[in-house]
Amino acid sequence: MAKILCVLYPDPVSGYPPSYVRDDIPVITRYADGQTAPTPQQPLGFKPGELIGCVSGALGLQDYMEKKGHEFIVTSDKDGPDSEFEKQLHDTEVVISQPFWPAYLSAERIAKAPKLKLVVTAGVGSDHVDLDAAAKAGITVAEVTNSNSVSVAEHVVMITLAQLRNYLPSHPYFEQGGWNIADCVWRSYDIQGMKFGTIGAGRIGLAVLRRLHPFEMDLHYTQRHRLDATTEQALGLTFHADSGSLVSQMDIANLQVPLYPATRKLIDARMIASMKRGAYLINCARAELVDRDAVVEAVTAGHLAGYAGDVWFPQPAPAGHPWRTMPFNGMTPHISGTSLSAQGRYAAGTLEILQDFFNGRPTRPAYLIVAGGNLAGTGEKSYELR
Ligand code: NDP
Repeated sequence: MAKILCVLYPDPVSGYPPSYVRDDIPVITRYADGQTAPTPQQPLGFKPGELIGCVSGALGLQDYMEKKGHEFIVTSDKDGPDSEFEKQLHDTEVVISQPFWPAYLSAERIAKAPKLKLVVTAGVGSDHVDLDAAAKAGITVAEVTNSNSVSVAEHVVMITLAQLRNYLPSHPYFEQGGWNIADCVWRSYDIQGMKFGTIGAGRIGLAVLRRLHPFEMDLHYTQRHRLDATTEQALGLTFHADSGSLVSQMDIANLQVPLYPATRKLIDARMIASMKRGAYLINCARAELVDRDAVVEAVTAGHLAGYAGDVWFPQPAPAGHPWRTMPFNGMTPHISGTSLSAQGRYAAGTLEILQDFFNGRPTRPAYLIVAGGNLAGTGEKSYELR
């Protein structure tokens, strides 16, 4: 029997369970790169399409935990030394957390958790865990690779269109009784023919490029390893050797790289100054990839036409975070990777990882970030330790 600590975002303010607008969701069994969707060995404790990413939903893990006799604590209280999360760490063996409401697992917190063996990110992106400290402590870190990549890609396409077409400011006019066409369209452009470039064309970045290709955009990308020629030709991609070359030429620049020491503040004031006046920046990867205040200054001064995304630091963003009130922002809370569709996949993947862990089976290499004291599996390709 193990103690498992699961940190999830709070329930809806209107209460749980919610009622649902749809009765079913499509079943996705395989991802674009051929990886199979999660295959836990016992029935899921939820119906795909249910809200399981919040505290009362508990990732549908309650049944599994009870049957196995584990102590299963679910909380959203994660910040500060008096938080439930920090109080429970001392004898916890497994932490389950998620990027949307990150339980920051710093080196200090890892030092307070001597029994911790496994950290599961229910989703993709484990930068809220100090991977270096986890490796040194012999902790395994795993995430549910691919589970929400398309969810994020769809969000990127949506906010790109919303920004360029000035959708968000236009929506409230009619609700307020107006018909302000000129007010709506004075910042509205077609994306056809525009240069769109992504820094990072991995699972999400490439899915974005594939989805934007039918819009007849001029598509660009940069990353350390070039994509194969067939993919480049099929999508008409232009490769850039570095981020500087890419952002200086784009109408819309998109960030889709993991956060690790070398990518922190990749987009700083100098990089933003090199962008075209009126360019847009899209970031559904991680907030700390950009210089927060440089973005505010550039958007406020009109150098950037807008900034959109769903990732903040810290999360939840404090009331005074300048992006909350920045002009021409297309921000949301961190939601792109936690649609109901995505929740079903990352919850199933979390169950698969737990079952393998408790049954002494190896974790799928695609899910591994840190194992055996070093980066492993997907982690070897995605991150660098300090
Ligand atoms: P992948 O690992 O599949 O893709 C990341 C890409 O970034 C790789 O193709 C890699 O290529 C490239 N890359 C890495 N380092 C650099 C660098 N220094 N310079 C240029 N390119 C680089 O990751 P995903 O697409 O699955 O996810 C990307 C990120 O998106 C995640 O790490 C996470 O932070 C975020 N995310 C956000 C979500 C949300 O809800 N908003 C949900 C899921 C993920 P190469 O190695 O060739 O450089």
